[in-house]
Amino acid sequence: MSGQLSSERIGILGGTFNPPHIGHLICGQEAHLRLGLDRVILMPAGRPPHKPLEEDPGAEHRLELCRRAALGDSRFEVSDLEVRRPGPSYTVDTLATLHAQLPDSELFLIVGGDVAAGLPTWHDPEGVLRRATLAVAKRRGTPRESIDSALAALRGGERTEFFRMPGIEVSSTEIRHRVQMQEPIRYLVPDAVASYIDEHRLYGGRTPS
Ligand code: ATP
Repeated sequence: MSGQLSSERIGILGGTFNPPHIGHLICGQEAHLRLGLDRVILMPAGRPPHKPLEEDPGAEHRLELCRRAALGDSRFEVSDLEVRRPGPSYTVDTLATLHAQLPDSELFLIVGGDVAAGLPTWHDPEGVLRRATLAVAKRRGTPRESIDSALAALRGGERTEFFRMPGIEVSSTEIRHRVQMQEPIRYLVPDAVASYIDEHRLYGGRTPS
């Protein structure tokens, strides 16, 4: 025995979560399983620098939706770090804060393959890769080669870990659309998320079950 405390392996799954759905949760679950993580933190963006937020009910609602999505699953936690921080939600800042708070932990930034391929366009991508290992969910539509070539130019990109997950082709865009059309979203989002959307009349519709 070395006598050293083994460091905790923490996954961070960032997103707009507008709203969270089973694709997010299965992605987090498979990262937890395949990478041997101790816990996975859902990190809703306050103000995403990369994408305009369509039909945004507001960061507080998206945060609460994440809490509902993670309810009862001890593998998941939800952080309000980005929601509380003013200005654009740069991942590099979030990782720096988490490092300061959890100096003995090893951080893994969990992203879908589609997002991984876009990493070079992020604010300080090499700073991101210095602070966390990129953990990429393989997704249909984004071949491994396109991710490898996008990351090849970045220092730290070679440490990227890939994991597989059952293909779940659901998106928040589709959920919002279904709510507007008054179509059921049951089984696509956790029940607690569907009831919260319904209670607060988010996304301009009802959600029949
Ligand atoms: P929108 O439809 O509003 O663009 P989204 O469904 O893509 O949203 P985000 O909150 O933007 O959801 O995604 C957060 C993270 O989850 C990203 O890394 C993304 O690649 C990943 N992700 C989203 N949907 C899935 C899915 N169905 N399977 C695997 N990963 C997913």
